[in-house]
Amino acid sequence: MPLLEIDKTKCVGCGNCVDVCPFGALSLEGDTVVVNEKCTGCGACLEACPFMALRLPESPSPGTGDMKQYSGVWVWIEQFNGQMGNLAIEILGQGRRLADLRHSALTACVLGHHIEPITREAISYGADRVFWVDAPSLAVYRTAPYAAVLINLARLHKPEIFLLGASSRGRDLAGSVATDLYTGLTADCTGLDIDPEKGLLIQTRPAFGGNIMAMIICPGHRPQMATVRHRVFEKPPANLLRQGEVITIAPALTEEQISTRVTNFIPEIDKVNLAYARIIVSGGRGVGGPEGFKPLRELADILGGTIGASRSAVDAGWISYAHQVGQTGRTVRPDLYIACGISGAIQHLAGMKTSKVIVAINKNPDAPIFSVAHYGITGDLFQIVPALTAQFKKRLNK
Ligand SMILES: Cc1cc2nc3c(=O)[nH]c(=O)nc-3n(C[C@H](O)[C@H](O)[C@H](O)COP(=O)(O)OP(=O)(O)OC[C@H]3O[C@@H](n4cnc5c(N)ncnc54)[C@H](O)[C@@H]3O)c2cc1C
Repeated sequence: MPLLEIDKTKCVGCGNCVDVCPFGALSLEGDTVVVNEKCTGCGACLEACPFMALRLPESPSPGTGDMKQYSGVWVWIEQFNGQMGNLAIEILGQGRRLADLRHSALTACVLGHHIEPITREAISYGADRVFWVDAPSLAVYRTAPYAAVLINLARLHKPEIFLLGASSRGRDLAGSVATDLYTGLTADCTGLDIDPEKGLLIQTRPAFGGNIMAMIICPGHRPQMATVRHRVFEKPPANLLRQGEVITIAPALTEEQISTRVTNFIPEIDKVNLAYARIIVSGGRGVGGPEGFKPLRELADILGGTIGASRSAVDAGWISYAHQVGQTGRTVRPDLYIACGISGAIQHLAGMKTSKVIVAINKNPDAPIFSVAHYGITGDLFQIVPALTAQFKKRLNK
């Protein structure tokens, strides 16, 4: 049945809509336009009609309907080469908390090939149930087969909340799944909670350049979907005695139905694991240039740490983006964060202020970084950093 509705009392047969229809679905019959089966409901004709004679009936979107049908919290378990990522574990911890608050179950969606141990791991970190989809076509991440599995499962089992990691793949997958399920998606959440009165998921994330924390809800569509950044939440402890149900699912697409092929993997040249580094020595505009990172690297080497950077240093081309800490870089939570020549803009603090111990080195005693620092050293980083390196060398016998 054609999707378009034509109000014959308004149509004068001007033919504007016939010209703009990309599908050849409209034609003139005498003084009025008629629509045929080729109409896809794309809406291209609506604006072309000066007489408001065309309309598309509002159909209930697939994600709406009786909210009571939707229950439970789901987590997509990101894995690489059969290893569950830390981010998935962090999200399982949050998923467990949210499921308990909603008095519902936590489901882990485990997709891949030869990944059975991950099903048990997911249960040990809090899942009550695991959907286990094992197939060669899922061995490496591709959007189409992964999204098809999750969309089919979500349509069938109707989760109330669906969480994914804000990794490159998680962001890609979440967007595809949310679009097909016709629901909302809050990207890069830094906080998740349940509204005690309405039971809605409260999704917190920085907005307006990090100047406000927006609390976003999705009252009219299900599932309520969010991606969560690395290191925002603590990893829960594993309980190897926990029991759960593992349900085997067949993949939604066959290899022949998937148009993308993975031909090669090129490892990252500048691979930096900032998110899980225990010690980070970070440099900002105060280091003055690429060579200004040299004393910071010496200090990081002695401490077994990793180099971080502010966006100013990255934007200046002094160091690669992989090192950037902050709202548009990595969120980090190391045991020790040493900020050298970093002023402490709110967008930088958003990525590192939950570090266990923060040491700030800055020649400006009023720099905002000192407001979050546990230890502050006022002075020139080019004197202080080498002095610290020399002391650590001595004390650590290096
Ligand atoms: C939407 C948006 C997203 C952003 N995302 C990020 C992000 O992810 N991460 C991020 O870092 N920023 C981000 N920013 C940029 C942020 O607002 C700041 O501009 C940036 O963090 C400043 O970097 P900085 O502290 O290195 O430079 P500056 O603010 O210029 O500070 C340099 C500091 O170095 C000190 N200094 C100079 N010389 C020395 C010396 N010899 N010894 C000791 N101290 C010295 C100065 O006193 C000063 O405090 C974002 C901004 C926007 C609008």
